[in-house]
Amino acid sequence: AQQTLAILKPHVVKNPFSLSRIKNIILNANFKIVHLKRKTIDLREAEAFYGEHKGKFFYNRLVTFMTSGPCELMILTKENAIQEWRQLMGPTKVFRAQFEAPDSLRGQFGLSDTRNATHGSDSPESAMKEIEIFFPEFRLE
Ligand code: ATP
Ligand code: MG
Repeated sequence: AQQTLAILKPHVVKNPFSLSRIKNIILNANFKIVHLKRKTIDLREAEAFYGEHKGKFFYNRLVTFMTSGPCELMILTKENAIQEWRQLMGPTKVFRAQFEAPDSLRGQFGLSDTRNATHGSDSPESAMKEIEIFFPEFRLE
């Protein structure tokens, strides 16, 4: 099965009710949570992780938010996990998520374009790179 990196963002982790609902949704959608860590991302990790967005108007806001408190970092596996997880998350922008995919995770738990509840890798290459950043202990030699 394919692997993807999922992140539950700080406002979700702060809210035990949202956190347990999202985990139930993940398991009911037949993803396996093969590794999970709760961690406050540091600046170096956030900059490596969001390098492709450096210079965009939301970059500082995004890095500040993502380092503001603990996230839950997960390696999820499932057949076609990358695309399936992005489907479950819904659109990036909260207004689109709420109008076009109200049952998606971002539709239900997103608060703003920055605080949009979850992250998911967008390709096998980024999944590998992102897992490497947050789970260096599982690197394949
Ligand atoms: P992610 O990479 O988090 O899974 P994505 O691939 O749907 O989401 P990207 O374009 O890669 O979206 O943006 C990365 C993150 O940057 C988004 O999840 C969101 O938190 C933030 N972001 C993207 N666009 C905006 C925006 N217009 N305003 C504020 N924040 C944004
Ligand atoms: Mg992305």
